[in-house]
Amino acid sequence: MIEMQDVYKQYPNGVRAVNGIDVHIKQGEFVYVVGPSGAGKSTFIKMMYREEVPTSGNIIINGVNLSKLRPKKVPLLRRNIGVVFQDFKLLPKLTVYENVAFTLEVIEESPKYIKKAVMETLELVNLKHKARVFPTELSGGEQQRISIARSIVNSPKVVIADEPTGNLDPETSWEIMKIFEEINTRGTTVVMATHNREIVNTIKNRVIAIEGGRIVRDELRGDYGYEN
Ligand code: ADP
Ligand code: ADP
Repeated sequence: MIEMQDVYKQYPNGVRAVNGIDVHIKQGEFVYVVGPSGAGKSTFIKMMYREEVPTSGNIIINGVNLSKLRPKKVPLLRRNIGVVFQDFKLLPKLTVYENVAFTLEVIEESPKYIKKAVMETLELVNLKHKARVFPTELSGGEQQRISIARSIVNSPKVVIADEPTGNLDPETSWEIMKIFEEINTRGTTVVMATHNREIVNTIKNRVIAIEGGRIVRDELRGDYGYEN
């Protein structure tokens, strides 16, 4: 479902961020990606949704080899992958409803379908009552819940999250994790880069540790493994 074969990434400035990664992630898995700052975690997950292109090696997502993917087909790939960021990246001039509806509008779903899908997704993140407000009127945790809603409204097979609790207090972080667990229980693969030691050590999942652009540890119910 997500497969990398001998993947390398060197940035134009010469930095070798990923140095030979082989990995296989099955549909329905929940995977934490951990490691020190600068280890290559973001680069690793950005290549999964083709925000970065590897220098060499193969990446196969949902049966599609990304290195053979024509540029025209990239939007189609992205539709099957939801992405959640540390800093939410909501559109400030759009309401909560419109932020979540946006991707469905781009692919020209019917207004009736869009309304149903958006309201159901807002219900899942417990923010149906905030549909009309703007992101700036929400707390950080609420904004992250909206950004999760946006990432799953089109039922992607995979959700990729880059430090989704990085800007949130501990209590809010746990609430966010509950939502990811729920999404995963429904069959969606979750790949999450995180520095949150407590969460990784409490909600046990597969742990992939990256250092120097290589996988140094891959355990099915692993620990965070670093001091902080
Ligand atoms: P992590 O997410 O583990 O902190 P990154 O993947 O962000 O690691 O970074 C890995 C290495 O690649 C670091 O040395 C970082 O400075 C470098 N790097 C990341 N993005 C870029 C970029 N766009 N251009 C050049 N170097 C980059
Ligand atoms: P329900 O009937 O399922 O409770 P509503 O139709 O009452 O859902 O909508 C709930 C909230 O979402 C309301 O604040 C509503 O104005 C808002 N909403 C619904 N559809 C849209 C839309 N197309 N654009 C913006 N806001 C909408």
